Amino acid sequence: MSIMQERVEQVQAGIAAACARAGRAVDEVGLVAVSKMRSPDDVAAAAAAGLRVFGESRVQEAAQKIPLCPGRLTWHFIGHLQTNKVRPAVGLFSMIHAVDSWKLLDTLDRVCGEEGGRLPVCLEVNVSGERSKFGMAPDDVPRVLVQSAALSRVSVVGLMTVPPFDPDPEKARPFFARLRGLRDRWRRETGVALEHLSMGMSLDYGVAIEEGATWIRVGTTLFGERAKA
Ligand SMILES: *Cc1c(COP(=O)(O)O)cnc(C)c1O
Repeated sequence: MSIMQERVEQVQAGIAAACARAGRAVDEVGLVAVSKMRSPDDVAAAAAAGLRVFGESRVQEAAQKIPLCPGRLTWHFIGHLQTNKVRPAVGLFSMIHAVDSWKLLDTLDRVCGEEGGRLPVCLEVNVSGERSKFGMAPDDVPRVLVQSAALSRVSVVGLMTVPPFDPDPEKARPFFARLRGLRDRWRRETGVALEHLSMGMSLDYGVAIEEGATWIRVGTTLFGERAKA
């Protein structure tokens, strides 16, 4: 078995174990293989091991890489999207995980209208209040959800967060639980279904699944340590 196959099986076993602990079905949790800073060969190996959904965090890197990767893969954008990169992003990605302003959401909707197509997105919420973090302040989200009902091309399907870094995954749990609680409340208050929670990375995806994640974004555990940027 290749090392990539071993790692894929390790993550699949981790997902299954977390789902069992939480009483959830494994098909409720999607795996985004985070391929930022990885080569097309790495992506091909992961695809050969059965992975289908890949995540990139820079539009320019993805635009160069995706044409060199196997076809029939699905690409999600998981990084901070600048409005001047929206047009290429709309052409490359089938989901955007981290929309962090009304302006970006509105721009995505307009560009999808011009280019044709529809786009599911998650709103990134800064649940920790860390100043260094991207994401909307929780207080700003309900208004954006209400306004988003008027958009025809983009649909807000859920919420995403990145907790403060900590090697102990239990430290991330309160932030994941808080995002789920906000989701439940905003769903009641706005009527937007918000069926997805994009949360959990290599170190803490098990905890994230226990707290309700429907998309986990895993890089290092699948591909090994990234070179320092
Ligand atoms: C890089 C990145 C990941 C993957 O992180 P790992 O620790 O390598 O699993 C997940 N989400 C986002 C937003 C990222 O930028």
